[in-house]
Amino acid sequence: MRSYRCPGQSERSLEAEFYRCPGCGWEVEIFSDELRARCPRCGREVYGKKTPSCIDWCKAAEQCLGSDAWRQLKGKRG
Ligand SMILES: [Zn+2]
Repeated sequence: MRSYRCPGQSERSLEAEFYRCPGCGWEVEIFSDELRARCPRCGREVYGKKTPSCIDWCKAAEQCLGSDAWRQLKGKRG
């Protein structure tokens, strides 16, 4: 699924991070130049850090997720 990368392309600016698939929990690798990737397991789209999650703007997120989970998620985003 990963597109071929030109060998001349600088790799220094590219970082891959793993994001958990919201559908199945699979850890999907997303490169820093990609907004999202498709989960190889269930086919769901997984978004990287560039897309704000509802916890960033939804006032009900704390109640929705529960205080502990909300604090954890919020803390990670620093
Ligand atoms: Zn999945």
